[in-house]
Amino acid sequence: MKASQFFISTLKEAPADAEVVSHQLMMRAGMIKRLGAGIYNYMPMGLRVIRKVEKIIREEMDAAGAVELLMPVVQPAELWMESGRFQAYGPELMRIKDRHGRDFIVQPTSEEAITDIARQELRSYRQLPKNFYHIQTKFRDERRPRFGLMRGREFTMKDAYSFDRDVESAGRSYDNMYAAYRKIFDRFGLQYRAVAADTGSIGGERSHEFQVIAETGEDAIVYCPTSDYAANIELAEAVALLPSRGAATQVLTKTRTQGKSTCEDVAALLSLPLAQTVKSLVLATDELDQHGSIVKTQVWLLLVRGDHDLNEVKAGKVEGLKGGFRFATVAEIEDHFGCKPGYLGPIGAKGVKVVADRTVAVMSDFVCGANEADFHLTGVNWGRDLPEPDLVADIRNVVAGDPSPDGQGVLAIQRGIEVGHVFYLGTKYSAAMNANFLDENGKPKLLEMGCYGIGVTRILGAAIEQNHDARGIIWPDSIAPFTVVICPIGADRSADVKAAADRLYGELKALGVDVLLDDRGERPGAMFADWELIGIPHRVVLGDRGLKEGQVEYQGRRDEAATKLAVGDVVGHLK
Ligand code: ATP
Ligand code: MG
Ligand code: MG
Ligand code: MG
Repeated sequence: MKASQFFISTLKEAPADAEVVSHQLMMRAGMIKRLGAGIYNYMPMGLRVIRKVEKIIREEMDAAGAVELLMPVVQPAELWMESGRFQAYGPELMRIKDRHGRDFIVQPTSEEAITDIARQELRSYRQLPKNFYHIQTKFRDERRPRFGLMRGREFTMKDAYSFDRDVESAGRSYDNMYAAYRKIFDRFGLQYRAVAADTGSIGGERSHEFQVIAETGEDAIVYCPTSDYAANIELAEAVALLPSRGAATQVLTKTRTQGKSTCEDVAALLSLPLAQTVKSLVLATDELDQHGSIVKTQVWLLLVRGDHDLNEVKAGKVEGLKGGFRFATVAEIEDHFGCKPGYLGPIGAKGVKVVADRTVAVMSDFVCGANEADFHLTGVNWGRDLPEPDLVADIRNVVAGDPSPDGQGVLAIQRGIEVGHVFYLGTKYSAAMNANFLDENGKPKLLEMGCYGIGVTRILGAAIEQNHDARGIIWPDSIAPFTVVICPIGADRSADVKAAADRLYGELKALGVDVLLDDRGERPGAMFADWELIGIPHRVVLGDRGLKEGQVEYQGRRDEAATKLAVGDVVGHLK
């Protein structure tokens, strides 16, 4: 490619709304252009990276035996009503109507569409296992689209879906995808970790996230440096919370079956030294994933010291729950309860944490909880359509230095960016949508499914978060927009320089190297600044003086300085 024919558009300053470095650098390097909140044009330079990411994914998916197809972006709502997700998905699902008033959705993933294909096409055990994938535009109406391509509303995902005859075979399909993902992320040249994630109600050990390690990541991952243990913080906390989760479940079960439970029940079950006068409020929150499965249950306990009548508090709180209950600021609690809250925070392995004088917790999706005098009520639900409030991040039940659950050392915590997710689905969709096949005995059985996503466009942001310096992006070779840039200096004045640059360009191209010749006639400083910002991993500079000695300058994007190379050695050096 010649720069004069390509499209290059760099900026000195990043726009003010770009909070993280990848967003800033992608904007400055002219890779993306904002069209709306969380909606971007992929400009030619950025699209080249996307295509390279897609190519690696395609090669490894194909090598793993998956078959590519393409499903529509806009899908009829009927399918989504069959699975129940049209109702259950919540506000992230973009629902639209056509001119006849019929409902459609813009796909956030494609379980329904693929299950519909499978129930028509996969009729016999002889056709199994099968794994279909596509690389397609997704839309999720994210509450807070931000960080450029990392949390867009429109984005590109590779999503794959496996179909198997039984649980055992589905496990093999899962392992096969897990291995393919390792190859894909190895080839991207990024530092990443595969971490266990909660499968929620579906159960089993079969959910892993692929997390690119970066300080700016939105996720926290917990791992043990001296063993293989690695999990996302939600799973690690769920495990740490199990005792109290179990205890709270008992309280809530008692509430359900006997109509009541008391503060003493709570105190006994949680082994907490509750004074007679202490009133308690137990709340459980379930966080659902996009399949409507419970991925996280958190139990929160509010203890109020003093002889305050909770009956008075109740009305306000229960109404509050319907309208969106939240733990309030200490001042608000004082206002409501007419007393100082003693402790407020999650129950966990570490007991109840004291939280300082500030807003402490806001929660969504109550499945149960609310107090009436000393009794705990259930069924005080908060609809999913309410805007999801912020969870306070600094209340943690797992911290660095805790013993690893495998007993092999202590835990460390890192930040990560979720770039891939593999998930065993079981028969959730096949059962809801009646997707059967006939087994050897001619008996209909439900298809066992798994789903496997990679955030194609998010990879760009994650790669930059991990690989940049003060001058710009540092792309790994495998996904760089161009692998090598040739920068001739003074080609307009020197026929030798022009001829040498053209020759080198031709040789590299013939070898299949993804090379760009900067024939724009820019000054060296401006030219170098552009390519360092854009992040081309290898640069060759040709000038009259060097060529007289038969030399050019080579500089890797991470190198401190250029090194001289004999003209004849460049090709060998870059291969
Ligand atoms: P997150 O926790 O970041 O919201 P998710 O768990 O909702 O992601 P999945 O449903 O697992 O995402 O989708 C598969 C992959 O799609 C994710 O691992 C991620 O790489 C990518 N992805 C999800 N949401 C977005 C988004 N808003 N913008 C860009 N990529 C996304
Ligand atoms: Mg999400
Ligand atoms: Mg996630
Ligand atoms: Mg996920």
